[in-house]
Amino acid sequence: MEDQTVTDPEAGQAAAAELERQAIALGEENLVVRARLLGANMLRRTGDLAGAARQLPDIERWAVEHGDRCLQARTYVAWANVERLFGDTAKFLEYSLSAVELLDDTATPHMQIWYRCTLADALADNGYMDSARPRFQQVEALARELRQWEQLLMVLNNWACSEQEAGDLPQARAVAHRMQEYSTAHGLDLNPGMLDTIGAIQIEHGEYAEAEQVMLECIARFQAGELDHSGQLAEYQLNLARAQHGLGALDRAQVSLDAARELCVEGDLHTLLVRVHQEQAELHAARGDYAAAFAAQKVVFATNEDLQARQQLAEALNRHAMFETAEAREAARQFREQARRDPLTGLRNRRYVDEKLPALLAADPDLSLAIFDIDHFKRINDTLGHDGGDQVLAEVARLLDTHLAAAAATGFAARLGGEEFLLVLPLTPVAAATAKFDTIRRAISEHDWHDTTKGLHITVSVGVAGANETTPRSQTATLAAADRNLYAAKQAGRNRVVTGTEPEPRHRAYRDHAAP
Ligand code: GH3
Ligand code: MG
Ligand code: MG
Repeated sequence: MEDQTVTDPEAGQAAAAELERQAIALGEENLVVRARLLGANMLRRTGDLAGAARQLPDIERWAVEHGDRCLQARTYVAWANVERLFGDTAKFLEYSLSAVELLDDTATPHMQIWYRCTLADALADNGYMDSARPRFQQVEALARELRQWEQLLMVLNNWACSEQEAGDLPQARAVAHRMQEYSTAHGLDLNPGMLDTIGAIQIEHGEYAEAEQVMLECIARFQAGELDHSGQLAEYQLNLARAQHGLGALDRAQVSLDAARELCVEGDLHTLLVRVHQEQAELHAARGDYAAAFAAQKVVFATNEDLQARQQLAEALNRHAMFETAEAREAARQFREQARRDPLTGLRNRRYVDEKLPALLAADPDLSLAIFDIDHFKRINDTLGHDGGDQVLAEVARLLDTHLAAAAATGFAARLGGEEFLLVLPLTPVAAATAKFDTIRRAISEHDWHDTTKGLHITVSVGVAGANETTPRSQTATLAAADRNLYAAKQAGRNRVVTGTEPEPRHRAYRDHAAP
């Protein structure tokens, strides 16, 4: 279902719900989330854009947290399509770009082709036809290479439409022509939407007889229930009327136009209805009935105003829905941020370290870090009580954070647990980092502790380690080296910074030593 075009979104919704139920029964969380995304896509297809938009942030978060690039890309394409229908072309572009950036060799051929095509569509919608064109070209080549002929036809259809909307008729025609050639070569019928594209291009070229034939075939196929991606019968009837008008078959054109009008009214298709009235005015004028043409033109004018009012209302509703989504996103972001902070000191916590440090270490051979451990903290607790100890922890954390910020533009301080802190300095080799850590150690020792501890002197011992001191470079190995140096600092009398001790099997790490 993920890689297929579903014709009936209501049936698709039921199928997605059933898949979700089965995934829950299996206890497969990732299948549950994927089924939810299918459901959100079906919701969008039924027209419930706000409903679909509300589902997406949770799915995105799950995909990001579980490093599921494929699912993340799928979510962004879903989001791109929601924004496109909301009429926010900038966001449509942003999300389709994010989706394409996530494509790697785990993505299916459908994703490889269709997501790139969506990006090209978004570029075209934003008026960047010059950027869209080479992308469409690439996607055409890719679809050919992967021998995905049906998708190739869809890509060319979108491309031809974009060219036509951008006003480049020769390009539109050339692309539509290739679409016809591929369909013949591979024995694939063009679907009604594709025939409509061809008909519309022929009308622009004044090829009315051909256009009438194509539009009649398009409508017959549509009415026979053939798979159709985006088309609307009303639009096909309108193009048929325009072709017949061009041929001079004004009576036939009127019949087709009446059918189009009825469908517009039935389906609440306001934008299209304006075009129907416009064509009606032209048809009256072609008959020489200028009074009727004028009356129809007035209807165009009135409908246009009505349409603008409707669009304003829809925009307001959409903005509200997006605001709700943005709010939910912000709340989630705050929650995520909170879960990575230590409540007592406000510093980053162990969870944050575990998430960030491996990548920092892997990327930066000059990264240095240090474990800061408060000396004789048990004594402080014994003297000042647990709450007094907490105040010392908070004050040490504040000093670490401010002095680290003064020492380096990047990096972070975290509380590893108890009275142990981690300071990370990117792009600072061990020698330079050790000097900076020593400055911070001295600042803590020289701090005026009187108000917090009633005279009890607070010092810290520090164990330093550099990213490139251990092979392979890993969080465990680097932290173990820092821990070993910390142990040496304690052994040597505390209130000092130690770096570069050699691992000795008989020496146990400070952490083990300290454990009861
Ligand atoms: P050393 O100089 O060898 O590091 O001695 P120490 O007493 O600091 O070392 P140790 O690790 O044995 O003791 C740490 C103490 O910190 C033990 C524990 O009760 C206390 N502690 C851990 N977490 C907290 C906390 O959140 N608040 C307070 N007030 N005390 C804590
Ligand atoms: Mg300790
Ligand atoms: Mg201690």
